[in-house]
Amino acid sequence: MRYLTADRIFSGLDYLPENTVLAISQEGILKDITTMEDIDSYAIEHLEGILCPGFVNTHCHLELSHLKGTIKQHTGIVDFGLGVMKHRNDQTEDEQHKAMLEADAEMQKQGIVAVGDISNTSASIKAKLQSPLHYHTFVELLALNPERADLVFNQGRELLEEYERSKLSASLAPHAPYSASLELIGRITNDCYSRKQPTSIHNQESTAENEFFTHKTGDYLRLYKTINIPIDYFKPSGKSSLQTIASSLNPKTKTLLVHNTFTNQNDLETLEKQDRSLYWCLCPTANLYIENTLPDIAMLIENCTLTLGTDSLASNSHLSIIEEINTILKHQPDISLEILLRAATYNGADFLGIEGDFGSLMKNRKCGINLIQGNAGSYSVKKLA
Ligand SMILES: [Zn+2]
Repeated sequence: MRYLTADRIFSGLDYLPENTVLAISQEGILKDITTMEDIDSYAIEHLEGILCPGFVNTHCHLELSHLKGTIKQHTGIVDFGLGVMKHRNDQTEDEQHKAMLEADAEMQKQGIVAVGDISNTSASIKAKLQSPLHYHTFVELLALNPERADLVFNQGRELLEEYERSKLSASLAPHAPYSASLELIGRITNDCYSRKQPTSIHNQESTAENEFFTHKTGDYLRLYKTINIPIDYFKPSGKSSLQTIASSLNPKTKTLLVHNTFTNQNDLETLEKQDRSLYWCLCPTANLYIENTLPDIAMLIENCTLTLGTDSLASNSHLSIIEEINTILKHQPDISLEILLRAATYNGADFLGIEGDFGSLMKNRKCGINLIQGNAGSYSVKKLA
């Protein structure tokens, strides 16, 4: 048994009293949360830094791991997306699998214990089965044409069943407002509700997305032209993408909105009037990689339940939650570390429905124990259990 204390101990929700001691078994199970008075002082290890539960990465694309360093930075979302399509199958299945194992190993080293992972294929099943991390897979579906909703939904169910047969937690997810019809979004989020599973959707990652919905102009017309998909049926709504799709999202399904780079106060006010189970995922390093900008993080902190995600190695050089925290603090040093740690632990676990096992310090659970050291903007993490 190790008895650990540190400058501060964060529970997943808040800081614990100063004299708290964590008792951790050799197997990495948190056996007790006690006080210094109850343990022989010679047995207690005093650590410099902050102890906290293992991190939850709520947005990753493990199957894009082989694209590390392939796609240029700051191109904007349309050219980024075209780059992913072009290079996705450049490498053999074996090479792709090897890249996924390396990405998974990096996440373990970075103190991540659970991952919400977007998948378009079954390619990541093998790596997920080999991993000690908890994965929840979002089987991602795309079809802007409402006439394709049934077909794509049924194909998605078949892929979902492959994950379920492998005993992996999984649910369906629409890709993004600009790539999923309101019909498809409705079918998916209703399906998730009936299965009591969360869903996820990329949201307002570019100004082009809002332009496309408001006026049917902008860079997304170039995307659909380049990939040769006619979109004559698509009608602009005169509203932002989020306001357009909001009524199609089942309000009772836990829904992760990912990126939110161009979400504004008006969007939040529109959604505020509705009773919804929304979580908002920040992937700041990927935002800088693709669009070279960041969301209005202060506004989101004030109004929303936040989680953190790394996105994929196609748009990030690390799969590390502490690096996402560093990115935020480098740009906005006033943001409280406590809020970011809660996003990185409890909120992510709560979204994925695994808060009984992960995301907070709980007795008799293997929730992961991380030690954070260093200074704001350049923190490092050491996985202790
Ligand atoms: Zn993504």
